[in-house]
Amino acid sequence: MSAIEQSILRHAEEVEYMKELARQTAQQLLEDADVGEIIHDPEAFVERLLAVLLAELGPYARRLAEQAATYAEEVGLQELEAADIDRIADEAEMKFTSFATPALRDAVNAIVARIHDMAGAGVALTTIGSAVTSPAARAALIAPLLGAARRMVSSWIQFVDRDVNDTAIRMLAAADTQDDGSGDELQPLTLTWVAVMDRNTCGDDKDLVEHFCRPRHGLGKTLEEWTALGLPGSPVLECSIRSHRGASPCRCLLSTDERTAEITAPVSAGDAVKRGRDRAAADVATAKKFA
Ligand SMILES: [Zn+2]
Ligand SMILES: [Zn+2]
Repeated sequence: MSAIEQSILRHAEEVEYMKELARQTAQQLLEDADVGEIIHDPEAFVERLLAVLLAELGPYARRLAEQAATYAEEVGLQELEAADIDRIADEAEMKFTSFATPALRDAVNAIVARIHDMAGAGVALTTIGSAVTSPAARAALIAPLLGAARRMVSSWIQFVDRDVNDTAIRMLAAADTQDDGSGDELQPLTLTWVAVMDRNTCGDDKDLVEHFCRPRHGLGKTLEEWTALGLPGSPVLECSIRSHRGASPCRCLLSTDERTAEITAPVSAGDAVKRGRDRAAADVATAKKFA
């Protein structure tokens, strides 16, 4: 396996490790959530949940931004300055807040509506009270909220990763097309698409280049052409469409590195993804044991 392929797999593992840590953190926070507090003041509950998620997961997102910048360099893209990395992390955090707020609010309001329905249907408040305190009923009640929170935090990590990569591509293309004053016609940079596949990513060799990742593997185009067709993670890709309200799961990359020519088939990241997830689960289990 080539060095560049190793970088791709190592990065896929790291992204998944961070995503799983984020999901597990959200889960632990909500496992301790007080349903009484949700009913009492849903809006305050959402605000507090977001504040805690930002405080707990902000450092993970920032660490991933740094890793993504190292990865961009490893695959032949532009080196980012610390200030760029900071700005991307800040923007991803704002993006997370703006899409997670309505999603979490919807999920919390659904819980409140469900409890009101139970009361409206003549279920005694004591029964509702026990539904809220019995672990199984409580788990069923908060399950949609938990699902939304897990999706949102994992999307946050994906935004960071994708934004670092996009920035590194754009900066490289911009640096390359700058007029060097020689008066020569500048040839725009060719970027090769490297398809990185897992069970969430899309397409086979017969599928259309316009909508799928796999048939794009190995194609070289300028940034302008790729932008028109859709960059990795673009909303026109089937894998992005299937992700519904979350961030695109696309792991593909564009590279100017000649070594990508040696990657003759799409990179299969399924095992790396599993390793990342397992590592996060093991870390969380260890942390619990010593808590
Ligand atoms: Zn795809
Ligand atoms: Zn892709």
